[in-house]
Amino acid sequence: MSYDPDNIFARIIRGELPAKKVYEDDDVLAFHDIHPSAPVHVLVLPKQKYVSFDDFAAKAKPEVVANFFKRVQEIAKKLGVHKTGYRLISNHGSDAMQTVPHFHMHLLGQRMMGPLVAGDTYHR
Ligand code: AMP
Repeated sequence: MSYDPDNIFARIIRGELPAKKVYEDDDVLAFHDIHPSAPVHVLVLPKQKYVSFDDFAAKAKPEVVANFFKRVQEIAKKLGVHKTGYRLISNHGSDAMQTVPHFHMHLLGQRMMGPLVAGDTYHR
Protein backbone atom coordinates (compact mmCIF):
# COMPACT_ATOMS: atom_id res chain seq x y z
CA MET A 1 0.00 0.00 0.00
CA SER A 2 1.40 3.41 -0.90
CA TYR A 3 1.41 6.15 1.72
CA ASP A 4 -1.59 8.49 1.68
CA PRO A 5 -0.26 11.96 2.60
CA ASP A 6 -3.76 13.07 3.59
CA ASN A 7 -4.40 10.40 6.21
CA ILE A 8 -5.59 11.72 9.59
CA PHE A 9 -2.26 11.34 11.36
CA ALA A 10 -0.33 13.02 8.54
CA ARG A 11 -2.69 15.95 8.95
CA ILE A 12 -2.17 15.99 12.72
CA ILE A 13 1.62 15.95 12.20
CA ARG A 14 1.30 18.93 9.83
CA GLY A 15 -0.85 20.77 12.38
CA GLU A 16 -3.93 20.76 10.13
CA LEU A 17 -5.98 18.82 12.69
CA PRO A 18 -5.90 19.21 16.48
CA ALA A 19 -4.61 16.57 18.88
CA LYS A 20 -4.07 16.35 22.63
CA LYS A 21 -0.31 15.97 22.44
CA VAL A 22 1.67 14.37 25.23
CA TYR A 23 5.08 14.35 23.54
CA GLU A 24 6.70 15.81 20.44
CA ASP A 25 10.19 16.07 19.03
CA ASP A 26 11.57 16.30 15.49
CA ASP A 27 10.94 12.61 14.80
CA VAL A 28 8.17 11.38 17.10
CA LEU A 29 4.70 12.55 18.09
CA ALA A 30 2.40 11.14 20.78
CA PHE A 31 -1.20 12.16 21.49
CA HIS A 32 -4.31 10.84 23.19
CA ASP A 33 -6.52 8.50 21.16
CA ILE A 34 -9.83 10.18 20.37
CA HIS A 35 -11.75 6.99 21.33
CA PRO A 36 -9.81 5.69 24.33
CA SER A 37 -9.95 2.02 25.32
CA ALA A 38 -8.27 2.64 28.68
CA PRO A 39 -7.64 5.58 31.04
CA VAL A 40 -4.29 5.92 29.30
CA HIS A 41 -4.60 5.38 25.55
CA VAL A 42 -1.91 7.24 23.70
CA LEU A 43 -0.81 6.85 20.11
CA VAL A 44 2.92 7.12 19.41
CA LEU A 45 4.08 7.61 15.85
CA PRO A 46 7.13 8.50 13.86
CA LYS A 47 6.64 11.67 11.83
CA GLN A 48 8.16 10.06 8.74
CA LYS A 49 5.83 8.44 6.22
CA TYR A 50 5.37 4.77 7.02
CA VAL A 51 2.07 3.04 6.34
CA SER A 52 2.31 0.51 9.16
CA PHE A 53 4.65 -1.32 11.51
CA ASP A 54 5.56 -3.68 8.69
CA ASP A 55 6.55 -0.77 6.42
CA PHE A 56 8.46 0.96 9.23
CA ALA A 57 10.42 -2.11 10.31
CA ALA A 58 11.24 -2.98 6.70
CA LYS A 59 12.31 0.48 5.50
CA ALA A 60 13.46 2.64 8.42
CA LYS A 61 17.12 2.61 9.42
CA PRO A 62 17.86 0.51 12.52
CA GLU A 63 18.80 3.60 14.52
CA VAL A 64 15.47 5.23 13.61
CA VAL A 65 13.59 2.11 14.73
CA ALA A 66 15.61 1.97 17.96
CA ASN A 67 15.12 5.68 18.65
CA PHE A 68 11.39 5.33 18.13
CA PHE A 69 11.05 2.51 20.66
CA LYS A 70 13.23 4.42 23.14
CA ARG A 71 10.74 7.28 22.88
CA VAL A 72 7.82 4.88 23.42
CA GLN A 73 9.41 3.72 26.68
CA GLU A 74 10.06 7.30 27.80
CA ILE A 75 6.48 8.29 27.04
CA ALA A 76 5.17 5.32 29.04
CA LYS A 77 7.34 6.48 31.93
CA LYS A 78 6.16 10.07 31.56
CA LEU A 79 2.55 8.85 31.69
CA GLY A 80 3.34 6.86 34.83
CA VAL A 81 2.21 3.47 33.53
CA HIS A 82 5.66 1.86 33.59
CA LYS A 83 5.16 0.81 37.21
CA THR A 84 1.73 -0.82 36.94
CA GLY A 85 2.09 -2.13 33.41
CA TYR A 86 0.97 -1.24 29.95
CA ARG A 87 0.13 -2.86 26.64
CA LEU A 88 1.56 -1.94 23.26
CA ILE A 89 -0.44 -2.75 20.14
CA SER A 90 0.21 -2.02 16.51
CA ASN A 91 -2.21 -3.06 13.81
CA HIS A 92 -0.81 -3.84 10.37
CA GLY A 93 -3.24 -4.30 7.51
CA SER A 94 -6.74 -5.60 7.07
CA ASP A 95 -6.70 -8.74 9.26
CA ALA A 96 -5.55 -6.56 12.16
CA MET A 97 -8.23 -3.98 11.25
CA GLN A 98 -5.78 -1.10 10.92
CA THR A 99 -7.86 2.01 10.29
CA VAL A 100 -5.30 4.81 9.96
CA PRO A 101 -2.57 4.08 7.39
CA HIS A 102 0.29 5.81 9.21
CA PHE A 103 2.35 3.60 11.51
CA HIS A 104 1.48 4.06 15.17
CA MET A 105 1.75 2.20 18.45
CA HIS A 106 -1.18 2.16 20.83
CA LEU A 107 0.05 2.58 24.41
CA LEU A 108 -2.63 1.44 26.84
CA GLY A 109 -2.61 1.45 30.61
CA GLN A 110 -4.11 2.28 33.98
CA ARG A 111 -6.56 -0.58 33.87
CA MET A 112 -6.46 -4.38 33.95
CA MET A 113 -6.23 -5.11 30.26
CA GLY A 114 -7.90 -8.51 29.97
CA PRO A 115 -7.25 -11.09 27.26
CA LEU A 116 -4.77 -10.34 24.53
CA VAL A 117 -7.42 -10.38 21.82
CA ALA A 118 -11.14 -9.82 22.35
CA GLY A 119 -13.44 -12.74 21.67
CA ASP A 120 -13.11 -16.47 21.95
CA THR A 121 -9.91 -18.42 21.98
CA TYR A 122 -8.97 -19.48 18.48
CA HIS A 123 -8.96 -23.28 18.13
CA ARG A 124 -6.54 -24.63 15.56
P1 AMP B 1 -5.78 1.62 14.17
O1 AMP B 1 -7.16 1.06 13.99
O2 AMP B 1 -4.83 0.69 14.85
O3 AMP B 1 -5.25 2.18 12.86
O4 AMP B 1 -5.91 2.82 15.19
C1 AMP B 1 -6.31 4.10 14.82
C2 AMP B 1 -6.70 4.84 16.07
O5 AMP B 1 -6.73 6.21 15.78
C3 AMP B 1 -8.06 4.46 16.65
O6 AMP B 1 -7.91 3.98 17.98
C4 AMP B 1 -8.83 5.80 16.62
O7 AMP B 1 -9.66 5.98 17.74
C5 AMP B 1 -7.71 6.81 16.58
N1 AMP B 1 -8.03 8.09 15.96
C6 AMP B 1 -8.69 8.29 14.79
N2 AMP B 1 -8.76 9.61 14.53
C7 AMP B 1 -8.15 10.24 15.55
C8 AMP B 1 -7.90 11.61 15.86
N3 AMP B 1 -8.30 12.61 15.06
N4 AMP B 1 -7.24 11.90 17.01
C9 AMP B 1 -6.83 10.91 17.83
N5 AMP B 1 -7.02 9.60 17.59
C10 AMP B 1 -7.68 9.27 16.47
